[in-house]
Amino acid sequence: MKLQILGYLGGYPDQGIATSSYLLSSGDYHLLMDLGSGALLQLEKVLDPLQLDAVLLTHYHHDHTADVGTLQYYWQLRAGTKKEAVLPIYGHTKDPLNFGALTFGSFTKGCGYDGASQLNLGPFSLTFLETEHPVPAFAVRIVERSSGKVVVNTSDTRYFAGLAPFAKGADLLMADTNFANDKPQPRWHLTAGEAGQIAADAGVRNLLLTHLPQTIDLELLRREALATAGSIPVQLASDQQVITI
Ligand SMILES: [Zn+2]
Ligand SMILES: [Zn+2]
Repeated sequence: MKLQILGYLGGYPDQGIATSSYLLSSGDYHLLMDLGSGALLQLEKVLDPLQLDAVLLTHYHHDHTADVGTLQYYWQLRAGTKKEAVLPIYGHTKDPLNFGALTFGSFTKGCGYDGASQLNLGPFSLTFLETEHPVPAFAVRIVERSSGKVVVNTSDTRYFAGLAPFAKGADLLMADTNFANDKPQPRWHLTAGEAGQIAADAGVRNLLLTHLPQTIDLELLRREALATAGSIPVQLASDQQVITI
């Protein structure tokens, strides 16, 4: 499977870089994970949005959902052949107002996940873990059934003991790394050192630092993550980066 990074900043877009959005593809199946500010423009560069099979939202903070509304208008207004007549947008149901907004006329349909059950989307099987964040948010573990390869996305979370078992043995761990190690508590995202520690404890093959800050030296974050990740390769998310898993 292939992961293309469309946006990797937390909070707000900056210098042409969008906030959280990742395109995960297996064969001709395309799952869009989160759709932050600026992400639809980035998606248009690499895939006709009408060729999406499904969208998955990890939580309803704007830096993960800002372009959902404009994607809904795209589905309404754009001529062309749609892969799905009605685009399914998966989100948790703990926030009825935001979940309700995922359904838009006959163009997109909100589909609930409960966080406890496995969800099968095309070639992928997804399981979830609720994280510790100011609003309900879910980490997701995605298995490509044909290859057995695993991608885990922590989504937004502070450090807690359940993250490493959830990420166990993943081929790629995408970790919220919004802070350097000197960030005081309380904090609602991982520090780079915590991201590296989770990767080491989980025994993942590769660690990708994402949900990055705009104002911290990213090489510092990489060094801090490397210090706890041991021998696990650590890379920083970058614009339109493609990772083959
Ligand atoms: Zn965020
Ligand atoms: Zn968040």
